[in-house]
Amino acid sequence: MNQFYDDAFARPCPLGADAQQIADQLHNFGDTRQIMSQWSFATAMNHLGLPQRYQASPGHQVVSLAARYELYEQIGFVSPALIFSAPGPSMAAYVIAGLGNEQQQDAFFGQFQQALCWSCFAMTEPTQGSDAGAMQTTATPVDGGYLVSGRKMFIGNGMVAETGVLFARTAPGQLGINAFLFTPQNPAITRHRLALTGLDGTNLALMQFDNLFIPTADLLGRHLKPTQRFAQSALATFDALRPCVGALALGVARRALHEWQTCVAPTPAQSQQLSAMKRRWDAAYREALTVCRQADEQQAPGRSPGMVKTACVNLADEIVSQLIHAFPTDIQPLPTALWQALRDVKAFEYTEGTRQIHRLNQSFSPRQASQECL
Ligand SMILES: Cc1cc2nc3c(=O)[nH]c(=O)nc-3n(C[C@H](O)[C@H](O)[C@H](O)COP(=O)(O)OP(=O)(O)OC[C@H]3O[C@@H](n4cnc5c(N)ncnc54)[C@H](O)[C@@H]3O)c2cc1C
Repeated sequence: MNQFYDDAFARPCPLGADAQQIADQLHNFGDTRQIMSQWSFATAMNHLGLPQRYQASPGHQVVSLAARYELYEQIGFVSPALIFSAPGPSMAAYVIAGLGNEQQQDAFFGQFQQALCWSCFAMTEPTQGSDAGAMQTTATPVDGGYLVSGRKMFIGNGMVAETGVLFARTAPGQLGINAFLFTPQNPAITRHRLALTGLDGTNLALMQFDNLFIPTADLLGRHLKPTQRFAQSALATFDALRPCVGALALGVARRALHEWQTCVAPTPAQSQQLSAMKRRWDAAYREALTVCRQADEQQAPGRSPGMVKTACVNLADEIVSQLIHAFPTDIQPLPTALWQALRDVKAFEYTEGTRQIHRLNQSFSPRQASQECL
């Protein structure tokens, strides 16, 4: 009944034998760059998402979205902190690949060919999270470039990144938002590490920009119409990575199931409950994988990436919660890994858009609204 669930992960973990040890060091809030540099899989992460022409050895890298999705699930199983702390072009890659001219692409992607390099994607603001169109950070045109002022919140790898993409407003209205290449370690940027309830070891930053100068050459998408810039680049990033966030959540749920079964000899009723969870897990995993394969084949997705993410995250949250409630009271204490899963899984509700926003988008999307209901 749970053939796929039980067999699919019997093969060796692609992340390296040291992945758990690296994650444990991250959980203790060590130096992100130093710890991640020790990871045997760090170079592979550094190259994940590099366009083919920047790959050192094409054919040996994870290039399809489906392969990335499978990898993210494995990372979620070990620890999602690994993905939030990893080197690599990450989310920024989609924006640079979509909007960057040849020089900008060479400058950005070239950094990952040389050495381990950390990037960030600075869009969310303290008071305008879900409503990115109401962004307040400004990029005021000056001689030779722009002066950026404002604040960005929850920026992954914001404390350690040496490069990244920053979104700021050059004019009022939806079409006034632009993307820029930027250097997060510039002294005109003040960065604070945020205290988190879950994802121990992850460095999410609040960034304050005080007249950061960005040269005109670092404005992305100058060769495109304004309608093709912000919305297109943001959507391309999120559409690609939302199922992968769902995969991280499913990985956390699978780990919780694994930890639970390691500690408990289930009663017949609990065995049935576990089987039901695994069947639902299988269905969610396969559905999201199908959407990734459709994207790889440039077919219209059977389900919107936002709703796929929502379904995976809801299920993962439910599974972790049920496991904690079903944990026998006579076995004490509750394993740390289960508490960790409960705290970590909550983060995915907010990563790449909340369920309410995906539902709203869904209801305003005429093509899919009639096909889906959650
Ligand atoms: C682990 C993690 C990593 C992240 N990494 C990054 C990153 O690298 N870069 C980046 O830019 N951002 C990042 N984020 C931020 C993330 O994108 C935001 O948290 C998300 O967009 C939601 O914004 P918010 O937190 O301000 O919540 P809000 O927008 O304030 O939402 C709060 C609640 O109100 C609801 N809500 C909001 N508007 C509506 C509405 N119109 N109708 C109904 N309900 C509504 C939401 O569904 C939610 O439940 C990260 C977040 C996390 C948790």
